[in-house]
Amino acid sequence: MGEWEVRLTGRLERGGDTVSFRFERPPDLDYLPGQYFFLHLRKGDRVLVHHFSFSSSPLDKGYIELTTRMRGSEYKKALGSLPLGAKVRIGDVHGEFTLKGVSGKVAFIAGGIGVTAAYSNIKWALQEGVKVDILLLYANRSLSSAAFLEELQSLSEAHDNLKVVHILSRPEPGWTGETGHVNSELIERVVRDWRDRAFYVSGPPAMVASVREMLLGELGLPEARVKVESFLGY
Ligand SMILES: Cc1cc2nc3c(=O)[nH]c(=O)nc-3n(C[C@H](O)[C@H](O)[C@H](O)COP(=O)(O)OP(=O)(O)OC[C@H]3O[C@@H](n4cnc5c(N)ncnc54)[C@H](O)[C@@H]3O)c2cc1C
Repeated sequence: MGEWEVRLTGRLERGGDTVSFRFERPPDLDYLPGQYFFLHLRKGDRVLVHHFSFSSSPLDKGYIELTTRMRGSEYKKALGSLPLGAKVRIGDVHGEFTLKGVSGKVAFIAGGIGVTAAYSNIKWALQEGVKVDILLLYANRSLSSAAFLEELQSLSEAHDNLKVVHILSRPEPGWTGETGHVNSELIERVVRDWRDRAFYVSGPPAMVASVREMLLGELGLPEARVKVESFLGY
């Protein structure tokens, strides 16, 4: 267990209302791709705490990053108003939603902002040259509400072992790709080799619970092949 004081060093627009916040990385802060941490913010004499998955890879030098939807909550207002250089407290790194130690074929199913935990793993695996075949099923309302679009596109163009499939519930006019929600029919059609893959599901709790149930129930995958990260608070 650790706790660190770190400075905000950068802010990046990621599409839709999504923003990444970068902080200096303390030399002794170790984490696995896909893990999460607690971020404490001061608001007057109160401390506000939320947890966030890393959207950075442990191989990224000098910074750690979180990515979030900037809704109008008290917490997000406090986060959004931090000036560059502001000090914040980071505590406790947790989680087992990681590709570290995994090989073979995997499929991430990310709902909206759940892409952060997938992105950390994907970026790390490609940087590290891990022998893993990765399929990302990325569910969003529309392309304009999806984060990391350009980053994912250039990663999949540069690496044969990453394929990204977008699934849109309210697509822009003219969209010819997948539509609707992630269900067993879509998995069987789009992920032909689903029987050979380990599944990593991340996103809002309702989406994660229903996709997990479908993978275990309708498709009959064993529990050991389905990992989930539920973003409580969405
Ligand atoms: C393991 C994990 C990883 C996460 N990773 C990310 C991430 O990468 N990016 C991201 O944007 N968000 C992530 N979240 C969610 C994040 O912690 C916030 O809950 C979310 O961003 C909503 O915050 P808000 O300030 O917009 O809403 P809030 O105003 O804080 O909350 C909206 C509603 O949710 C309830 N709520 C808030 N937090 C929780 C909680 N922990 N448990 C139960 N109910 C809660 C509130 O009571 C309120 O009713 C993660 C959560 C978990 C558990």
